[in-house]
Amino acid sequence: MCGALRATDAGKKAVLMGWVNRRRDHGNLLFIDLRDRTGVTQVVINAERDAAIHEKAGALRNEYVIAVIGTVKLRDANTINPNMPTGGVELVSEGLRILNESKLPPFLPSDTALTNEETRLKYRYIDLRRDAMQFNIETRHKVAKAIRDYLSAQGFLEIETPFMTRSTPEGARDYLVPSRVQPGTFYALPQSPQLFKQILMISGFDKYFQIVRCFRDEDLRADRQPEFTQIDLEMTYPQPEQVWEVVEGFLVAAFAAAGFEIKPPFPRMDYDEAIRLYGIDKPDLRLPAFTDVKECFAPENLTQLAVNANLPVVAVRIPKVGELSRAERDAIKPMFISKGGAKIFEDFKRIEKNFPEAAAKIAAKAGMEAGDLIVIVAGSPQSSEQTALPSNRKVTPQELAIYASAGLLRLALAQKYAERHGIFKKTGDAQKDFRFLWVTNFPMFEWDEGGKRWNAAHHPFTSPHEEDMPKLETVVESVNDPQSELSSVRALAYDVVLNGTELGSGSIRIHRQDVQSRIFRALGMTEEEARARFGFFLEALEYGTPPHGGIALGLDRIVMILAGAESLREVIPFPKTARAVDLMVDAPTPVGEKQLWELGIVVKRS
Ligand code: ASP
Repeated sequence: MCGALRATDAGKKAVLMGWVNRRRDHGNLLFIDLRDRTGVTQVVINAERDAAIHEKAGALRNEYVIAVIGTVKLRDANTINPNMPTGGVELVSEGLRILNESKLPPFLPSDTALTNEETRLKYRYIDLRRDAMQFNIETRHKVAKAIRDYLSAQGFLEIETPFMTRSTPEGARDYLVPSRVQPGTFYALPQSPQLFKQILMISGFDKYFQIVRCFRDEDLRADRQPEFTQIDLEMTYPQPEQVWEVVEGFLVAAFAAAGFEIKPPFPRMDYDEAIRLYGIDKPDLRLPAFTDVKECFAPENLTQLAVNANLPVVAVRIPKVGELSRAERDAIKPMFISKGGAKIFEDFKRIEKNFPEAAAKIAAKAGMEAGDLIVIVAGSPQSSEQTALPSNRKVTPQELAIYASAGLLRLALAQKYAERHGIFKKTGDAQKDFRFLWVTNFPMFEWDEGGKRWNAAHHPFTSPHEEDMPKLETVVESVNDPQSELSSVRALAYDVVLNGTELGSGSIRIHRQDVQSRIFRALGMTEEEARARFGFFLEALEYGTPPHGGIALGLDRIVMILAGAESLREVIPFPKTARAVDLMVDAPTPVGEKQLWELGIVVKRS
């Protein structure tokens, strides 16, 4: 193996096979860096030693595949390369065989500058030969194996579920597979194994997991893939805490496999609290939370500033950005996306000048230090009237608008000044570098302004809080009312968040058929529609369904974080582009008329 030779092997015979990574021609001496998955070893071909081999080696080019037999030799002191594990030795060639030639690749695995991504994806087999990609794919294997081993040891069984199935709603469009034997009918590729894993609980497999491909036809954002891999699990009779413990356990194992020691339990935070403190349901705990600064202002200050005294007034602090120039300060306002009438005061100096007492209190309360940036976000007087706080909720929709505006600005500013504050840089201390969080008690329903109806915030199989169940009794009257009690129904749903990224979502599920039917009704589905789409599942629920719950985490994203990669495409061997195209095999493609005819499909050509 090319990466395995060490000084202790000196004097031994060795056979190496691999690719010509680089060749250097010094006349009578030819140096070949020979590469395989384990690394690179220098091979020396000496014309004086063996003219025939030297002559044959003259034909070698980058990426030729060769076999070399020779003797391992310690390098001369002045040629030792301390940067390579094999840098102390070389293989002196005594025999050479060219196993295969290679066309000149469009780029070389040994190139230090990366070629454009389209070329990399088209010639993925060359791209995957690069060290960085070999590392990423190996990390992926190790992480997946650590998770499998951990869950298996905890008594979970990995059980496969079908790819050709019917639609399971996870909020995206389905990929469809036409049936030839029943023309005009379609399978859907699973957006997740949600219903199958619940049915496995009904089937007596009390601890299920699967590292499984899921398919969602979404408009792709930069960090999405149409097919992606989930670590999917489900268990019977759990409290949410038991699911969290399992996830924390396998994440500890996964991070350890990549060389990072993280320590559970992860902190937990109510959804409302996350919104109040960070303006987002997946807070990045590495950055400071908001400071509520309403009390720092005298009531007349708020009037003068034209601020709505009934809505939150929060300070966003970004540490250590240093003195901002006029132009830099002016650039902040355009970054602000105002929801629900939220307004911004980006010039803290002006607050200091006009309201010195308030400014001093704000600085103290927010823990402002020299060089910190403070921006204030508040509601304008014309922000829509505060509605009463629904029972069980701490944040009203009007407050949410202010917090969400501030939350987006907090992240945008933190990104913009990342170089200056350095908070996103790795410190080498996993406890600081990986800030995990459980966000719990999400709302059950989300109002869809476009469709004028309530959607499931997670998915429709999520259980509402026991205490909020009575509110569902009123659903029939309130399915079209954005102010209805449905807004205050909490779900037994939870997300695991890392550094502001959602790694996974899960919930305790509904296990009673009557509750499930009521949820479908709240979502505006009639009994008949629910039966037509999920009849099999509603029926299964009637055969002694044990309480159950679970979660699914994105494997690709976890590996991306662990490998320190910049995009999901760096950790998926054969990914698709943002337009859902596989550039290597050139998919999707049109298919022949015969194939379409057999499927009973006519393609509309515009
Ligand atoms: N099936 C859900 C998803 O893919 C996760 C879960 O509830 O287990 O988002």
